[in-house]
Amino acid sequence: MAVTDAGPLYRLPLAGEEEVAYEHPVLGSVLQAPGLSLAATGVDRLLTWGLTNSLWMFPMATSCCAIEFMAAAASRVDLDRMGTILRGTPRQTDVMIIAGTITVKMAPRVKKLWEQMPEPKWAIAMGSCAISGDFYRNLYPVVPGVDTIVPVDVYVPGCPPNPEALMHGLLRLQEKVRMRRAGQLVVREASPALLELTRPTIARLGDPARDRALDRQQEQAALHATEAEPAGTLSEARPPEPPATQARDEVTPSLEALLRDEFGVTDLPADAAPVIGADRHVALARRLRELGHTQLVYIVATHFPEKAGARPQPERFEVAYALRSVGPGSHVAAWRLSLAPGEGAPTLVGLFAGADWQEREQYDLLGVRFDGHPDLRRLMLPETWTGHPLRKDFAADAPCRPWR
Ligand code: SF4
Repeated sequence: MAVTDAGPLYRLPLAGEEEVAYEHPVLGSVLQAPGLSLAATGVDRLLTWGLTNSLWMFPMATSCCAIEFMAAAASRVDLDRMGTILRGTPRQTDVMIIAGTITVKMAPRVKKLWEQMPEPKWAIAMGSCAISGDFYRNLYPVVPGVDTIVPVDVYVPGCPPNPEALMHGLLRLQEKVRMRRAGQLVVREASPALLELTRPTIARLGDPARDRALDRQQEQAALHATEAEPAGTLSEARPPEPPATQARDEVTPSLEALLRDEFGVTDLPADAAPVIGADRHVALARRLRELGHTQLVYIVATHFPEKAGARPQPERFEVAYALRSVGPGSHVAAWRLSLAPGEGAPTLVGLFAGADWQEREQYDLLGVRFDGHPDLRRLMLPETWTGHPLRKDFAADAPCRPWR
């Protein structure tokens, strides 16, 4: 402990100051007591023992790694043997275990929770996604390693690491805590990302290592997904189309009759859901609900960019809806809206509570507006995000500060 003219200096180390040994205030009092300095070493050992064997954890767990984390807390591995306690509050925990993929929307929340933990505190990054983003590393919403927001003390590699690996990481952390208590220099572990050990195993689109012809084929396939492709392209590798009857099941005979008789729809394609005018779409959903289609299965939008060539097409968005009747003889009723850029789709929130988040998701990812939605704002990305990543014209390499 450092002693100054003004008395002993009790200072808890800040995160990232491994070179500063942690000194417990009680130890300072013991050292000042006459005749008790001889006991200091023993007391210090006792305090260190208590500290290393009562690491309370804050579970910052997402995705699949969280399942392994839960398994580690269950009876077979039983993390409690190490004196750990999982707490649902950051204010009474020593170790944040970040397990799973962290997105740019979650990142500020993770940082805030970390800052709410009292010193001294430690962080464990569990799994490749937490360590580097792994194969989601280059995706637009993924943080490429939590050590960009939190100082990580121990990395537990794997996809996912099993409970034993996490236990090993905790033993490693205990060792580091003991070293810091003993005043030894604890060198921060090198991030696997900084060591460039996390290069994606599959080269990205546009990577010089890739076959340029394959790049072009993929781009064409994405941009002209609905167009018949010439022989020799990627479509040859696709699984065969399902028989027409399978798609036709989506338009049940009663739905066909309903559309024809009550909504005047005559174009009922055998291989796709029918296109309904936006002005009749809420009435159709209401009518179907009256007929027992009470479950909203999905609302999914697709962006079709403008197409030149022999069969030019203007830019448009398609929003597909599906409702299911619940119970015996369950049927799915599906239809589509075709929208010009800027055109809105009437909301279904008043009819189906589940439409709330589904419409927000499509608004967030594709920019489709849902007129009448009571709270239309982004769902998965931060409000500050620019653009809509599932539009075909969204640049996959768009910067995402501070990570890209
Ligand atoms: S590292 Fe693997 S197991 Fe863990 S969250 Fe990522 S993908 Fe899932």
